[in-house]
Amino acid sequence: MLFWVEAECAGEEDVSSPTEPSPMAEAAGADGVWEVDPGAFTLRASPGFCRLIPPSRAGGAVTLADWLARLHPDDRPALASALAPATDGAVCGFSLDFRVADPASSLAGGSGGAGGEGEDGGAGPWLWLRALGMPWAGGRLAGTLSDITAQRMAEERASLALRGSGDGVWDWDLGAGTVHYSPEWKRIATRCSDTALDGTIHAWFARVVAADRAGLEGAIDMHLSGERPVLRHEFRMVDSSGQEHWVLVRGKAMRDVTGRAVRLTGTVTDITPRKKAEQQLLFDAFHDTMTGLANRTLLLDRVGQALNRDRRTASRPFAVLVIDLDRFKTVNETHGSAIGDRVLRVIAKRLEEARRMGDTLARVSADEFAMLLNDIDDVGDAITAAERLARSIAQPIDLFDHDIQITASIGIAHSVTGYERAEDLMRDASLAVFRAKQQGRNRVDVFDSNLRRQAMSAMRLETELRAALEQDQLCLFYQPIVSLAHNRIDGFEALIRWRHPERGLVPPGEFIPLAEETGLIVPIGRWALREAVRQIVQWQARFPRPVPLFMSVNVSPRQIHDDDLAGLVAEVLAGSGIPPSSLKLEITESLLMQDPAKSRDVMQRIRDMDVRLSIDDFGTGYSSLSYLHTFPADTLKIDRAFVSAISTGESSAAIVQVISTLAAILRMDVVAEGIETETEAEFLRDIMCKFGQGYLFHRPAPAEVVEALLTDATEDASDGAILGLG
Ligand code: C2E
Ligand code: MG
Ligand code: MG
Repeated sequence: MLFWVEAECAGEEDVSSPTEPSPMAEAAGADGVWEVDPGAFTLRASPGFCRLIPPSRAGGAVTLADWLARLHPDDRPALASALAPATDGAVCGFSLDFRVADPASSLAGGSGGAGGEGEDGGAGPWLWLRALGMPWAGGRLAGTLSDITAQRMAEERASLALRGSGDGVWDWDLGAGTVHYSPEWKRIATRCSDTALDGTIHAWFARVVAADRAGLEGAIDMHLSGERPVLRHEFRMVDSSGQEHWVLVRGKAMRDVTGRAVRLTGTVTDITPRKKAEQQLLFDAFHDTMTGLANRTLLLDRVGQALNRDRRTASRPFAVLVIDLDRFKTVNETHGSAIGDRVLRVIAKRLEEARRMGDTLARVSADEFAMLLNDIDDVGDAITAAERLARSIAQPIDLFDHDIQITASIGIAHSVTGYERAEDLMRDASLAVFRAKQQGRNRVDVFDSNLRRQAMSAMRLETELRAALEQDQLCLFYQPIVSLAHNRIDGFEALIRWRHPERGLVPPGEFIPLAEETGLIVPIGRWALREAVRQIVQWQARFPRPVPLFMSVNVSPRQIHDDDLAGLVAEVLAGSGIPPSSLKLEITESLLMQDPAKSRDVMQRIRDMDVRLSIDDFGTGYSSLSYLHTFPADTLKIDRAFVSAISTGESSAAIVQVISTLAAILRMDVVAEGIETETEAEFLRDIMCKFGQGYLFHRPAPAEVVEALLTDATEDASDGAILGLG
């Protein structure tokens, strides 16, 4: 039941008549109620209505003509037709927003007031009102009237702010199925402002990247159904040139009293730069920047996926290859890191070219790559693949002015071994690499459980060796080097030993290769040189000779490459009081061949101090003596293998003779290593080999044993120190 004020809106007092407020109008949140008889062209209005649309005649009743007269000219036709009956006399419900002259400003003479869009030529500032009408008894229309000026202004402000933010605006009338797109929306979403877009939602969706369309529709549905309070979704759109770009859409639905969405309005923002940055970050997190390959994290993830597949379905086996470049450090040190990087990139490219589709190639550390091989038949497939990769790595690499060649040691872990975690496959493949390196590099090795045991013990050995160095468990044994002509001790070779707390005396062959691999040889070698010099200083003082006793010390390749060997020698000799010529450094033939230029340079600096240099294990490295002579060495040590051939009468015995003769021509001394029999000693004496060393004379022994030997020899012999060899 509506409450009416019968036509008399006679001023403020009357407006607050007892019929106000109307409960229904209040319930609807309206400011006034009205009833129109279109046929009779009459209006009945509540006092609230009259406050918004006062009668033209003070004290009189408000008329339909008053209402229409107060309307903004632009809005008048719409309301007039809404209030008019159809040709058949029927009336329809409606909802209309329109402007009326603000009564406050018309009372005050047309100025001030809350004001809508006062730019029009009307009576001044405008109020925005909303009329809702519905058919009423007797062919009449009844309805409410609400002041929506504040809401309109807020909307206007929001829209101004939006225009300022650069976001595009869209407004979808869900009932009519039409969408309004702002010029900014067109510019952002289609990247082209003059695109002719029809006002449908299809015009938008058609420009969404196909893969993202379902996601966008889903997000809209969830908001419309009320599942999500707001619409917020990121997706890609395609511009007219087919380029993709990222946008963020935000929106909120307007709902009717039942909660049903009737309109969906929102914005669209270009988020391409942010997305690109995000994608770059994501890429960086899973890739190696230098080569662009996957990194360890991504590889582990893929291996994890392969393991999962393996568990779920009885899929085909897979393998992980760890590919470790041999002596890559030397490349960096010799040629500089820029060349080192270039070499890595070349190898990465070769591996990438050799990679099958579906396999993952990663760079997992500085000089280490890894590959996940999916779908293989058996471990034989993995070995074949590894050998193929090794061959492609070993191709010469062009460094502009010359070529270099790099080899790789490859370890394989095979899924059939049975694994739970990706890390375990990687670990086992690394163990296989470790063994491949130990067995001489440039090899492929497959993990087996023996290997795990071996590698574990190698790792333990490394830890123990570090401790050994700190805890003084290393010591030097000394093996006499004898003048063959005089049967007299002229010097010694210092040979390292490890007094292991549990294992007893460990020979160098069991820990020097590991020390070289890990770099521990540098501090170990420094210690050995200092200790050997300290010892020979003592012995020269106690056992003076016309030609002082000499000391031969073994030097590892890494001491030349990773340490300032010449500096160390100078430092050790300084203040020692011994003639530099009584110190000899033994360098193996193979070392010289690794980096001839650097070796030659370091050796020359040492030779310039008058320190002597021996080429150790001569004959094992297949290099010619004439080439070796380009190094400033003055002694050759003939390898034991040739010396023992003397006793067995093999033809290689003749080689010993040739080497001795050549050495004499080149004015180099010769030391024959590993003399075990008198026959060998005799033969060597006959061919004028100057020095000998071997079990026949004495085994390597601790300092005190050697000292006793020297003491005895000095006492026994009248003509110098002769070995008491029985
Ligand atoms: P090397 O320098 O060729 O030393 C000679 C090796 O032959 C020594 O083995 C020695 O004990 C052994 N030997 C000597 N005479 C005979 C013989 O008549 N018969 C047999 N069967 N063997 C004989 P050792 O002491 O086990 O040393 C092995 C290798 O370890 C050395 O070979 C050397 O390359 C390396 N080494 C030893 N000490 C050091 C060190 O302080 N630094 C470095 N970098 N390497 C060292
Ligand atoms: Mg030696
Ligand atoms: Mg040797």
